[in-house]
Amino acid sequence: MDSTAIPHLGQSGTSSPVPQHLGQAATAACNLATNFLAPVKTERQIYENSMLEDDPNANSQCPAVNSEEQQQQQQQPRWGPNHRGAQELAGLYSRGKRIQEVICLGVCCALMSCDFLFILLRVKLDNLSTILLAAFCGVVTADFVSGLAHWTADTWGSVELPVIGKNFLRPFREHHIDPTSITRHDFVETNGDTFAVTIPVLCKLTWDFISLPEADIQRRFFWICFWYELAIFVAMTNQIHKWSHTYFGLPWYVVWLQEHRVILPRRHHRVHHVAPHETYFCITTGWLNWPLEKLQFWYLLECCIERLTGCRPRADDMKWAQKRS
Ligand SMILES: [Zn+2]
Ligand SMILES: [Zn+2]
Repeated sequence: MDSTAIPHLGQSGTSSPVPQHLGQAATAACNLATNFLAPVKTERQIYENSMLEDDPNANSQCPAVNSEEQQQQQQQPRWGPNHRGAQELAGLYSRGKRIQEVICLGVCCALMSCDFLFILLRVKLDNLSTILLAAFCGVVTADFVSGLAHWTADTWGSVELPVIGKNFLRPFREHHIDPTSITRHDFVETNGDTFAVTIPVLCKLTWDFISLPEADIQRRFFWICFWYELAIFVAMTNQIHKWSHTYFGLPWYVVWLQEHRVILPRRHHRVHHVAPHETYFCITTGWLNWPLEKLQFWYLLECCIERLTGCRPRADDMKWAQKRS
């Protein structure tokens, strides 16, 4: 057999078209793999477009290319507690909001304790796997719920909206322009809203425990455990989020959970804090961030909503970010 007739992978000008197609397919597969496995945000993008919280002295600021840019950098803080927008938003945290958070935390903790006792009384060796499976489903669902709530609050609405604007959207706007402010919030301010949203679910569980016959409770035990554990993980979400912004002085067990990706890791959450804050919204474990980004889930959802309503995503977020000084 003539050696020139032996087809080579991707070689052009061979007698058979198959090897050329194979070569093109291999190149396409390589490109696809490279794009698919590429980091969502590069170190350069993180460095240039977010506030580096592991550098308290701000030594990592990007070098200015000219004197005008240098002057602008000195006069206009892009992020942090000196940002005028961040200061204005922090000032909108009211006494009424604080009272609402304290009441919600109290009610939620009481319901959580009651439901915990009701479940504990029914724990047996043969339903342990049910509880563990419900916990796994609960934590995955909580991660998705955290992403959906975070995306909604970050992307739509405005601080000027009555009731929800100042009380529920304000902390999201403040968090983007001063990410470390969460580390200065106490337990009540950090956890008030995430505990509050679980109250209806916990109320329903308590009602089921006191009103349903035991046979019905046993039949629904998986779903009872699922809703209870979902409520626990949702309630804990903002505390976990706060830990992901805390680069100094965390207890060793929190660092262990972050490093083993059981809860939202610090380096992972930095991807969300790269302007314009359009991805990595899940903040309980962060497990769903990568698959949702690869599916372009948030982007496609935003395109549909923008087309239907004409509202621009993150218009209010952008407005506050520009109130620099
Ligand atoms: Zn955000
Ligand atoms: Zn954050």
